[in-house]
Amino acid sequence: MTESPHEPTGPNPFEELQRHLEKMLGGSVNMAFGPGAGLAGAPDETEEAGEEEAPASTVADRIRDFRFKPREIRDYLDRFVIRQDEAKKVLAVAVCDHFNHVRTCLETPDAVTREYTKPNLCLLGPTGVGKTYLMRCIARLIGVPFVKADATKFSETGYVGYDADDMVRDLVKAADGDVEAAEYGIIYVDEIDKIAGQAGHGTRDVSGRGVQINLLKLMEETEVNLHSQTDMIGQMQYMMEMQRGGRAGRRTINTRHILFIVSGAFEGMTDIIQRRIQTSPIGFKAETGPDAETDPTGLLRLAATPDFIQYGFEPEFIGRLPVRVACERLSAGDLERILLESEGSVLHQVRADFEGYGINLEVKPEAVRAVAEAAAQEKTGARGLVTVLERVLRDYKFELPSTPLTRMELSAECVAEPERCLRELLEAGQDATRRQLAEEVDAFAEEFSARHGLEIRFAPAAREALVHQCVETNRTARALCEQRFKDYEYGLKLIARISGQKRFELPREAVDQPDILLSGWVLDAYRAADATPPPAAAPPEDDPTPPA
Ligand code: ADP
Repeated sequence: MTESPHEPTGPNPFEELQRHLEKMLGGSVNMAFGPGAGLAGAPDETEEAGEEEAPASTVADRIRDFRFKPREIRDYLDRFVIRQDEAKKVLAVAVCDHFNHVRTCLETPDAVTREYTKPNLCLLGPTGVGKTYLMRCIARLIGVPFVKADATKFSETGYVGYDADDMVRDLVKAADGDVEAAEYGIIYVDEIDKIAGQAGHGTRDVSGRGVQINLLKLMEETEVNLHSQTDMIGQMQYMMEMQRGGRAGRRTINTRHILFIVSGAFEGMTDIIQRRIQTSPIGFKAETGPDAETDPTGLLRLAATPDFIQYGFEPEFIGRLPVRVACERLSAGDLERILLESEGSVLHQVRADFEGYGINLEVKPEAVRAVAEAAAQEKTGARGLVTVLERVLRDYKFELPSTPLTRMELSAECVAEPERCLRELLEAGQDATRRQLAEEVDAFAEEFSARHGLEIRFAPAAREALVHQCVETNRTARALCEQRFKDYEYGLKLIARISGQKRFELPREAVDQPDILLSGWVLDAYRAADATPPPAAAPPEDDPTPPA
């Protein structure tokens, strides 16, 4: 389906390419991709080709096995999506109806020809409340490919920008090129409200109307070329295949069983609905109807076909979207529940990010509350959670991985004043590092003592000097001590032999000038031994000072 309401003007690169390829391949080549080609009903030789070799598509198998009940789908959604109870029910029913029908078509090909209205859906509601997430979860549960597109990106013609057909081609990409799988996929079109011409507010937007018509054809049933007119490489590949084997793989995809979901915030829709209610013959509803300010979702729930037409949609277009459901705004309390209860909570990801650096992130309940409240201020639904957490944690993520910290506690204070808390944490972290290094220094002394049958210990000033040098030179305490005191094993053993002294306290000078101090001690031991007439009395066992 490449027909567009507006033919492009100027040289057509496609035709030029076709001319070149014809010359190269020596003969007429029917590329079958020009405007007008590939419409519904166009013969598809690949179906014949497929008969010989088509391996069973796993997606088709999954649909043949589709036995979900709406409640099961709702229960699955409950694990990930907070609130949106009505949307969950409506979606669950629509999806079950749809895939039951597709299954029937797979089992009984006659069913394809039966009258059937696809339950394409329209989700109304503000941004970030889970509209896309609901559909992503459903697609994952059923195991069908899913793509999301933005209606504002569409251009009517295939030559400029992205057109509606590109979504279908993207679905094939999402299915790893498996065209059959893509034929059972789900396409989600966001910002659909932006392609509605505001009929009530001036002239109708012509290009929006064109896009609606293109989308309408897709939602109905059509064949979409697998390569767009502008996809030269794809076209060439196809032709090369044709040239090589006489036939190529499938070149179109049928949209009959693709489920379409459109969504949008539909700003201004509440006014239209309210006006209709107020002027309707049953005017008393005006007093009992939901208030646009306090309960916009309640009002959106009442959206009817005339409201959508008034909003600027073509009647045929909105007619192809029989299922409509409004999603609720999320309060700070809902956002808190999302963080705490949703299996897809962004907190899992944040924790995993820190775990990647060996840091265990503990998020206090008050911090969760504070993040949710700050996120609610953003007015972007659950998206605000990501924004706030990123803002709060960005410096932590930068600094902490380079520290020895293995644990971090996110408190409400950190959420309110991330910079100050990080500074304090880093300072405290330095203290912790120093404490750890001091312990390592003592551990070295203990090991040395045990290994050599002597007892050494570091005087406080020596320990402090060693820690300081470790920090300055970014070395471990063990490495520094082993290097500094490499001769002490022999020196101290010698002293022990001369004088019998086995306990030594290493003063600050041992750190700064280890060799000078040690040779001085050895000399002193000799002198003392020389001065003492034999039999020399051993110094008392508990005297830690070297001989004078
Ligand atoms: P939109 O309503 O604009 O389509 P999304 O579904 O894309 O919003 O929401 C963005 C992200 O926010 C989702 O991927 C999900 O992580 C989170 N989210 C949004 N709404 C909910 C919700 N109701 N429950 C749990 N998570 C949600």
